[in-house]
Amino acid sequence: MRKILIVGAGQSGLQIALGLQSQGYEVTLMSNRTADEIRSGRVMSTQCMFHTALQHERELGLNFWESQAPKIEGVGVSVAGPTASDAKEGARVIDWVGKLDGYAQSVDQRVKMAGWMDTFAQRGGQLVIHGAAVSDLDYFSRTYDLVLVAAGKGELVSMFERDASRSPFDAPQRALAVAYVHGLGPRPEHPEFDAVRCNLVPGVGELFVMPTLTTSGRADILFWEGIPGGPLDVFQGVKDPGAHLALTLELLEKFLPWEYARATKVELADAGGTLAGRYAPTVRKPVGRLPSGGLVLGVGDVVVANDPITGQGSNSASKCAASYLSSIVSHGDRPFDEAWMQSAFDRYWATAQHVTKWTNAMLGVPPEHVLNLLGAAGELPPVADRFANGFNDPGDFENYFYEAELAEGYVAGVAAAAA
Ligand SMILES: Cc1cc2nc3c(=O)[nH]c(=O)nc-3n(C[C@H](O)[C@H](O)[C@H](O)COP(=O)(O)OP(=O)(O)OC[C@H]3O[C@@H](n4cnc5c(N)ncnc54)[C@H](O)[C@@H]3O)c2cc1C
Repeated sequence: MRKILIVGAGQSGLQIALGLQSQGYEVTLMSNRTADEIRSGRVMSTQCMFHTALQHERELGLNFWESQAPKIEGVGVSVAGPTASDAKEGARVIDWVGKLDGYAQSVDQRVKMAGWMDTFAQRGGQLVIHGAAVSDLDYFSRTYDLVLVAAGKGELVSMFERDASRSPFDAPQRALAVAYVHGLGPRPEHPEFDAVRCNLVPGVGELFVMPTLTTSGRADILFWEGIPGGPLDVFQGVKDPGAHLALTLELLEKFLPWEYARATKVELADAGGTLAGRYAPTVRKPVGRLPSGGLVLGVGDVVVANDPITGQGSNSASKCAASYLSSIVSHGDRPFDEAWMQSAFDRYWATAQHVTKWTNAMLGVPPEHVLNLLGAAGELPPVADRFANGFNDPGDFENYFYEAELAEGYVAGVAAAAA
């Protein structure tokens, strides 16, 4: 059977590894950390995944935590009023929730990746704990039919050329700060179901709130995305998790008092429950060339890393894994040459391009027609629902979101139908 090496045990690497393994491929998985190190380490993401991405996991029988993880049934949007006194009074100029057709879920990557790694090893997969360097790949590429690099945003990305035509930013667009907490109060707007809430503070940044299944059971995540250099860009250098949470809450009280009101009794889920950082959104060329001439194919964040403002990276990693898995299997015994690698990526990019376009659009100042669209969603539930379901299928934004004429026509049509 064909021999495949996968470097990186994250969402994309593990999903492909387990998928290929179940089809009889001889898979070696290289991870720079053991399952126990991942499980007892720091949180890595907020990893909210929507229906299509979860469905790829279900198809492989990998939805081990589905019954325990909170079901996220909607996406809510709140926009803070423009003045400081608005903030003090908790005034919101936009406030609604759209319902998802299929629920979303967040399973802490520490739980999922550690569990999937154990499963891969128990099923007879070869797990190598080693931080791979380019020289290792150079050696291994001669003994494997295919080498996949699924190592996230780490150093190995340097093997893959940045695609400037698809990467409009060369610097981080948000400073990220995450805290996993227990004790968040119920959401008064819709206590009967869970949703991701996107709170927008114009000119300052965003706060995302969502439930998750973490190492200590159900928790909620408070995730600030701050415009660099602005009032939320204050987490760099805060090493103490308690100080990180205190800062998170202080900013909540200042900018989003309606969220702070629910958060007065929270405590950190665990000592590894905070994360701060930033990165530049980047699309890369998919084929990496090794010093000796061997070729490797990039997977997931290695090739397409978007800002987490739209919560798409794990979704994309799952979609990339499903697409590559199908490309690998349908290629049979033919060689995995450069043309095949490029075509496998192109097939994935056909959907990934919509994610990148939408995410990059959401990082900018919203044009008037988008503000009007978000405003209309408060009056017209079908508009709110459609926006919410765009998180599952960002390709739909092409139909009504980017062009003012399309957006206005769409809203007018829904309004007429409602009347
Ligand atoms: C703050 C934050 C919030 C986010 N929220 C969401 C969200 O709500 N929804 C969503 O869909 N996405 C979200 N994302 C993005 C998502 O987490 C990533 O896009 C996704 O995890 C990428 O998967 P991957 O398999 O490509 O890489 P990763 O998950 O990064 O996995 C790569 C693995 O490779 C390992 N590795 C690295 N270098 C080496 C090496 N040299 N040798 C061996 N192993 C190596 C790493 O340790 C890691 O285990 C968020 C990201 C951040 C930072």
